[in-house]
Amino acid sequence: MKETELRDYVREILDLAADNRQLTIRLGIELDYIPGYEREARKLIADLPFDYIIGSVHFLDDWAFDHPGYVEQYDSQDIDQVYRSYFELICQAATSGIFDIIGHPDLIKKFGHRPKGDLTALYHQAAKAFAIGGVCIEVNTAGLRWDCGEIYPSLDFLRACFKEGVPASVGSDAHFPEQIGFSFDRAKELLQLAGYSEIASFEKRRIKFSSL
Ligand SMILES: [Zn+2]
Repeated sequence: MKETELRDYVREILDLAADNRQLTIRLGIELDYIPGYEREARKLIADLPFDYIIGSVHFLDDWAFDHPGYVEQYDSQDIDQVYRSYFELICQAATSGIFDIIGHPDLIKKFGHRPKGDLTALYHQAAKAFAIGGVCIEVNTAGLRWDCGEIYPSLDFLRACFKEGVPASVGSDAHFPEQIGFSFDRAKELLQLAGYSEIASFEKRRIKFSSL
């Protein structure tokens, strides 16, 4: 979305909510976390009535690592290092104070590139950062549509978050109306396996819980 389109987007959602009061329509945004641009991110959302802000990492330096057009760049990288860099950024995003939710938390696996090393330490580091930052982890079913064939996050990552008391929210990352709610039964299954019995949602940036 261009910056100039943001206010029209907000207006459209608020109008739809006003015209369809039989539905619960919340105003959210997925906002990139780019280190060094925290002030700009805060400014973008400052005077808009969002219910929730999802913070996501889609760039390692200027590499759009989740974009199918740049997937060949994985071939020239040390995948273990790529994972470490990615996790470092989501920890920074979590403790930035900008976001309510960290989106598709292990997106770096999207095209099926797996590190040689064990990810346990990175999962625990991230779970701790999420707890300190007071953010939710998003259980996002879009990964099932890509080469990794898994929900974001992995079960082990979600378990680490549960242990740290990090709340979880659910999303389908729908890019088309027919993807809304995609595979939510599998998201519920994963949450229960990790130990969760409730999920988080937001209204005016305030967290609420409902049972799974
Ligand atoms: Zn995203």
